[in-house]
Order: sequence, then C-alpha cells, then structure tokens
Amino acid sequence: MKRIKTFFGKLKVKFTKKKLKVVYENDVPSLFSSLKIYDKVQRGEIKCANCNNPITIENFAYLQIKDGKIQLICNNADCMFLK
Ligand SMILES: [Zn+2]
Repeated sequence: MKRIKTFFGKLKVKFTKKKLKVVYENDVPSLFSSLKIYDKVQRGEIKCANCNNPITIENFAYLQIKDGKIQLICNNADCMFLK
C-alpha cells in the first residue's frame, strides 16, 4: 500500500463507496514498472479482475484497490463501468 500511495500525486484518484479507482494519466508502462508487474503484463499474466482477459498496455483502463489488493481493469465497456 505504501508504494501505491506514492503515486497519488500523479494520479487521478476517484473514491467510490467501497472501491478506490485510480486512473493513470499518460504513462502506463511506468505505472506497471513501479508496481513490478510490467513483465507479467508483457507475458499476458495479469488478467482483468472483471472479465479475465489479459491486461495489456493498450487495453488497461484503470486499477482499483479492493480489500487491500490491486486489481487491474481492462477497457471493455462492461468492465470500465462496473458498479
Ligand atoms: Zn475486463
């Protein structure tokens, strides 16, 4: 969690009732590198928390922190507008 907080200055952070949504503005590769998941993303090992599609630099929409875990969400309309 500490590592995530250091990003908040650069991120648009949107609080919802139960979830924290973080949308990174323009440097997704740096974000992934800092989270130490860049290689995993490249290998297709990181899946969308909603639809289970592999997350890529291109289809990454936002990350959320739920129950203390980071979840990545892809840009499928169904995933981006989860309630
Ligand atoms: Zn998805």
